[in-house]
Amino acid sequence: MADTIGKIVDALKSYDGEPIRLMEVCGTHTAEIARNGIPSLLSPKIRLISGPGCPVCVTVTAYIDRLIALSEEEDTTVLTFGDLMRVPGSAGSLADAKSRGASVDYVYAPSEILTRAEEHPDRRFIFAAVGFETTAPVYAALIREIAEKKLDNIGFLTSLKTMPQAIRYVCTHAREPIDGFLAPGHVCAVTGTGEYAELASELGRPFVVSGFRGEELLTAIYALVRLRGRGEMRNLYPAVVREEGNERAISAMREVFAPADAAWRGMGVISASGLLLSEAWRRYDAGSEDLTRDHAPAGCRCGDVLTGSIDPAACPLFGNACTPEKPHGACMVSAEGSCHSRFVLSAH
Ligand code: SF4
Repeated sequence: MADTIGKIVDALKSYDGEPIRLMEVCGTHTAEIARNGIPSLLSPKIRLISGPGCPVCVTVTAYIDRLIALSEEEDTTVLTFGDLMRVPGSAGSLADAKSRGASVDYVYAPSEILTRAEEHPDRRFIFAAVGFETTAPVYAALIREIAEKKLDNIGFLTSLKTMPQAIRYVCTHAREPIDGFLAPGHVCAVTGTGEYAELASELGRPFVVSGFRGEELLTAIYALVRLRGRGEMRNLYPAVVREEGNERAISAMREVFAPADAAWRGMGVISASGLLLSEAWRRYDAGSEDLTRDHAPAGCRCGDVLTGSIDPAACPLFGNACTPEKPHGACMVSAEGSCHSRFVLSAH
């Protein structure tokens, strides 16, 4: 794009056309948009909305409940990333369970499960594997390594989701139309851009693949404004995202996982929007099927937030009964969560 960033910022600030609503569907984009204060650089007629791109936000209560139940089983330890510890299930979080004596530890990398399992062969370790197409290949490689090492005291409770069907859901369920999408940059680096070109054409809305720096995001937003009404895809992150994606990662993912229906917090079960361990690898599954029950904590409106139907600040609990220090709902837990990012922006 030939326009300089200064011209782009001027154009976005002075935009006076039809109001336009643009959604990002990548948690890292959500966090970077807030961190760079990008909404303050836009005309009031350009509205950015955070979609269902934060893995912690979209995890249903049944999944958290199942992790808690596993952590309370004899000789079993649940391993997870820190954010998931604070996500509310139907009767508290993993952190609450840990404080009651359940065996839950957080780790910095999934591969830590190998050391734990080798050092404690009499204990079973369950990894809470949440994420999108970006993390599924990591888990696939890890599971192959576990099989090679013949470790039989490891299991995975998976909540792995794929973006395209969720984007279709958002387009049909948002109370007001979404006029364009920032395509998920990290996901596209794995899957390639083909699915997003198809979505753009099918939905009649532009999709732009963006990097994560402030100038890259502004340039992508400007491209979306200019492409409004056109079902076209642009890749403005070509240094990382290729049309064909990462073939090795795709192949690992397809070997170990198979497409499945998946439950999304506040949105219900979306057909073919997830991944489960395929038949050949099912022995490593710790009961991930049919985890669909989802009871949002009283008053929490994560479902409306994740579909862009309300601004997080419209939730009556936002900023008082629900804050990053004391999250009441899943969207306030992670720095990539829609409500958390909105909270950061409103604090500026
Ligand atoms: Fe849920 Fe808190 Fe967001 Fe309200 S502010 S929708 S309670 S996460």
